[in-house]
Amino acid sequence: MVWDVSFTCDVCGKKKADANHWWMVLLGDVPCYEQDQPHQRFTILPWNPAESRNRDMLHVCGQGCAMKALERFMSTSAIVVDSKMALTR
Ligand SMILES: [Zn+2]
Repeated sequence: MVWDVSFTCDVCGKKKADANHWWMVLLGDVPCYEQDQPHQRFTILPWNPAESRNRDMLHVCGQGCAMKALERFMSTSAIVVDSKMALTR
């Protein structure tokens, strides 16, 4: 069975090519947290073809976009802020 899935970076919108060093980002729940604190944790995972199709996974094209994703997470608690804004860069 051949899956023809093309991935795009959830931060910069770049398309995945085989040679790229891609990573996956997953936001998970935090079991206990103080009020007014983020209730999610930021997890970064090495690229995995099977897990990459998980719809909860975000895909980033490299270290730069991983850092940007973390930055967005820490400042806004969201990684994909606005797809239109991401494309206008
Ligand atoms: Zn990217």
